[in-house]
Amino acid sequence: MKLDALIVAAHPDDAEICVGGSILKLVDAGLRVGIVDVTRGEMGTRGTRAERDAETAAANQLMRLSARRNLDLPDGRVQVNVEAREKLARVLRDHAPEIVLAQHTEDLHPDHAATGRLAREAWYLSGLSRLAQLDGGPPAARPKRLYHFMGHVPFDPTLVVDIGDVWERKVALVRCYSSQLAPAGDGDRGQHFLFGADILSRMETRARFFGERIGARVGEPLLALGPLATAQIQRLF
Ligand SMILES: [Zn+2]
Repeated sequence: MKLDALIVAAHPDDAEICVGGSILKLVDAGLRVGIVDVTRGEMGTRGTRAERDAETAAANQLMRLSARRNLDLPDGRVQVNVEAREKLARVLRDHAPEIVLAQHTEDLHPDHAATGRLAREAWYLSGLSRLAQLDGGPPAARPKRLYHFMGHVPFDPTLVVDIGDVWERKVALVRCYSSQLAPAGDGDRGQHFLFGADILSRMETRARFFGERIGARVGEPLLALGPLATAQIQRLF
């Protein structure tokens, strides 16, 4: 199915936490949006695989996505190899999105950083016709732009999406992942999270910081590789 935008994220909930507002805005604008999660998050300290699948399904309902797929790579062990990047390139050809939003290559979580590199390499490969022929699926189709979204490591963004009108809906989206928001047991004080901070409060702090930089209440930062033409920004948001 042809999509307008595809989000490439390491674990179920990364897309919602990092660009949930942008997703809601794109869908509200009548665009077809999909997510490909690289893993199912089965190695996470909090939540079982079944719980996480159910949480993802609940979030999907709120986002009205056109597609959500999973590459089923091993959580905690995502590697950028030929098999993985060709698997993702196939997903890109299947959906031929205009834009891709992906994890950043600079991130302290190895899965996030690997997913960012995987997205960049698959983005390039998706445009190679010989590879598409070899695969026997849809023809080569490289998305026009790839933007990185922000994980643990801040960057100076190319653009900030004003998500003020969908902020409350974004919070509801992230609240679907209740297993990730509450301690799993007595020994769980959130130490497995970097800086030990609560996900929702960190998300809000970041949204307010970047929102302030564009004169908005809350925003989501994106980084493009190279300069953007005015028309590209207008078509996006
Ligand atoms: Zn993650």
